[in-house]
Amino acid sequence: MLSVEQAYERVMASFQVLEAEEKPLLECIGQVLAEDIHSPLALPPLANSGMDGYALRHSDIIGASPETPSNLSVIGIVAAGQMPDKSVAAGTAIRIMTGAPVPDGADTVVPFEETDEVQRKREGKTLDQVAIFADMPVGCNVRPAGEDVSKGALVLEKGTVVRAAEVGVIASLGLDKVKVIRRPVVAVLATGDELETTGTALSGGKIYDSNSFSVAASVLASGGVPKLLGIARDNLADLNAKLEAAADADLVVTSAGVSKGDYDIVKDVLNQRGEMNFWSVRMRPAKPLAFGHLNGPGGKNIPLMGLPGNPVSAMVAFEMFARPAIRTMLGKAKLPRPMVDGVLTGPIYNEDGRRVYARVEVELRDGKYLATPTGPQGSNILTSMSKANGLAICPEDLPSKNTGDQVQIIMLDWNEEVQI
Ligand code: AMP
Ligand code: MG
Repeated sequence: MLSVEQAYERVMASFQVLEAEEKPLLECIGQVLAEDIHSPLALPPLANSGMDGYALRHSDIIGASPETPSNLSVIGIVAAGQMPDKSVAAGTAIRIMTGAPVPDGADTVVPFEETDEVQRKREGKTLDQVAIFADMPVGCNVRPAGEDVSKGALVLEKGTVVRAAEVGVIASLGLDKVKVIRRPVVAVLATGDELETTGTALSGGKIYDSNSFSVAASVLASGGVPKLLGIARDNLADLNAKLEAAADADLVVTSAGVSKGDYDIVKDVLNQRGEMNFWSVRMRPAKPLAFGHLNGPGGKNIPLMGLPGNPVSAMVAFEMFARPAIRTMLGKAKLPRPMVDGVLTGPIYNEDGRRVYARVEVELRDGKYLATPTGPQGSNILTSMSKANGLAICPEDLPSKNTGDQVQIIMLDWNEEVQI
């Protein structure tokens, strides 16, 4: 039986970064830039004011104070989005709003609060004069052209993940489309005679198919595009027929039918229509995990991951193998989830020399991550997965990890680019 590391290596060897696509900016959230982005302009394009105030020459306000103000003539006004129509000469100032271009001749902006503007308004005086009450440093409140980005500069590197901040930066350069690595299409297929589709009545002996949904949701959360193929019954003819719709997928993820029962046919289909790489991993849950490929159209190999049927096993196996595979195709640099060292508040057991991934609720208390097992750890107990935000690891060579022991925890909700 393969170790988790051996299985991981074999899975990852089958995946590479997908091609680029050009898309409207907002649709690229979470995707990886497939090109360097150089700025076609300086940001800001012109020197502009950081405050509402008066644009003036610093040499005119040296030594200014409330007792000895500098009195200047106000020769104009400039708002954001306008160009100044005058320049500032000695003894003059231009009223200026935040974001408005700083007029030629001015080198400093003094905010209204440091002038007599409020008092003049209160007294009904015109604003053609202003008294400056402070000697502010030269250049104060002037945001120079190119302060953020100079024209032609490399602003974002290929490989960067597009988040809200990158969307903002790209939009500030005036670009409305961008080249990113495309999202992988992941076909999701449940198998089992006992499965009923949600939204229909449940007849005797049946259960609802939950794996299609938890797997498709995991695909979405990992950045892939799920393609739901429905439910295949436990016979080769139906499984083969359902897999026809997977021809355009970058990955097929099935659930169930990979253990040693009479109707476990996912392995058979891999052997018949492609090649099986392995089907068992030394871990708990998710020991029966099949991986291989189907022969696709035009000689293309379509990787197929046969997740175990038990709902927790399916999710944990997805987490450990399918998520990093999807992230590889997306071009992400960081594949596994962030991990932390924590302390157990209850024991986790290892019955048979497999690596245990125990569902735990992690909380930070007094600077320590405390990990509390979320209840029964049977691989069918899906609600204990819902209560968990982490998977605590008991190594294969230890019979247990006990209360107070240090454990490594995979942080299930730390799903973006965080790495601790
Ligand atoms: P199997 O791998 O086919 O032996 O299935 C293992 C267990 O997982 C059985 O109890 C199945 O009923 C259950 N199971 C299989 N597929 C699903 C599914 N799509 N949704 C929920 N439970 C499932
Ligand atoms: Mg079955």
